[in-house]
Amino acid sequence: MFIYEKAPAKINLMLDVLHKRNDGFHEVEMVMTMVDLADRLTLHDPGTSRISLSSQSGYIPLDDKNLAVRAARLLRQRFGVNRGVHMHLEKRIPVAAGLAGGSSDAAAALRGLNRLWELGLSTAELEELGAEIGSDVPFCVRGGTALATGRGEKLEALASPPRCWVVLAKPPINVSTADVYGNLRAAEIAVHPSASGMRAALEAGSFEAVCDGLGNVLEDVTLKLYPGVARLKQVMENLGADGVLMSGSGPTVFGLVSKEEKAKRICNGLRGFCEEVYAVRTLG
Ligand code: ATP
Repeated sequence: MFIYEKAPAKINLMLDVLHKRNDGFHEVEMVMTMVDLADRLTLHDPGTSRISLSSQSGYIPLDDKNLAVRAARLLRQRFGVNRGVHMHLEKRIPVAAGLAGGSSDAAAALRGLNRLWELGLSTAELEELGAEIGSDVPFCVRGGTALATGRGEKLEALASPPRCWVVLAKPPINVSTADVYGNLRAAEIAVHPSASGMRAALEAGSFEAVCDGLGNVLEDVTLKLYPGVARLKQVMENLGADGVLMSGSGPTVFGLVSKEEKAKRICNGLRGFCEEVYAVRTLG
């Protein structure tokens, strides 16, 4: 039996950092939503107890460092499973992009293995296990649109954004999330984006209010460290995207666009500037 799971990318409509906690994590407030750019994970029982992973991508680890493999090991150890799995990951989400590709693969592995190994776990139980793998994994297990607090693992479902186009541009820059957080002085953040403002914009179903409410306090840090990301943001704004923001710790910049034709035009305009460009729909 083959099991198939989609692992969509996420974007942050807002990301705020409240303070650094004693355990080293940052206390955050993030509104996240899924977009229609997804990895594909296929799982099957190899008839042995081996856990293995293959992928067409040359950019990800295939051993225990891969978050999908970590998810499989965690489930097997926690529930005393003695069956194995072979997973094939068709990677479409750019790697180390601020789009939570690895976290979404881990979430897809948790969902897929729950079915393959007939564990009968609820979504809430899978979310809890996901938090042991990474802060963004619980949201990726659940999907939709949510406000994430704590270190990102506490979730509250929110209304989906109005259907629109999302132009994603990933510059050829490697951004280290640890570096970005390391350079952030949480106490010195001058302007905090508003989680309640974004919640109200989503509830009202107002595309304009969602665009107005976009904000990410990591943007200033990444834009200073990597001026190429600042230029990309400027280009996306000049091309006329309705709202523009960097996702997560970057370097992907996304533009919200209400009309398909305009999204395609912006995509074409970006192509001379950036190789990895996608126009996709929101999924939230
Ligand atoms: P986030 O938005 O959660 O910070 P990201 O989109 O910036 O994540 P990922 O694509 O998840 O970053 O990859 C970050 C690192 O994690 C990569 O450098 C890679 O070596 C490692 N990694 C482990 N498993 C995976 C996976 N399944 N897919 C992609 N990267 C993975």
